[in-house]
Amino acid sequence: MYELERTTNDEERCQVAAGMGRCPNKIVPGTKNCPMHGGIAAARGIENRELRNYRLTKWRETIAEKANSPALKTMTEEIGIARMMLENLLEQCTSPTDLMIHQAVIGQQVQVIERVVTACHKIDKDMAGLIGRDELMKFADEVVRIVSDAVPPQMLPEVSEQLTLAVTNITAKRG
Ligand SMILES: [Zn+2]
Repeated sequence: MYELERTTNDEERCQVAAGMGRCPNKIVPGTKNCPMHGGIAAARGIENRELRNYRLTKWRETIAEKANSPALKTMTEEIGIARMMLENLLEQCTSPTDLMIHQAVIGQQVQVIERVVTACHKIDKDMAGLIGRDELMKFADEVVRIVSDAVPPQMLPEVSEQLTLAVTNITAKRG
């Protein structure tokens, strides 16, 4: 896919020191290194990050859209979403290997969601069971952040799909 090409243009020249001077190869676009010196991996990392950011943005947009529904307004429902999220996460792990690999992050997530739920209960008490759209968006944002930190990138599309489905189901039921 990437071919080794030499260049004399400093701007597009690999930054690794090689032999007597600097590596003469051309960089992989968007990175600071040639294919021989880690440029391909760096490019792949950038692609993964961009893909992840794109998905997160889409996900946020969808949640924002669903949260516009006046039906989605009680804390109980939001806590329901958090629990569904966790369940969906666990469902993603279909083999013992999956579970072993993700054991630590799942454990962390359980703890974090527990804290969010506790915080929600407190707000619930303070607000007599109602929550405004702003609070809901903050909460959804937090859930997205927690999950995107905890979930391996390749699992993110499925998780976001499930979350969107969960929100849609709740709003449809009440709508
Ligand atoms: Zn190089």
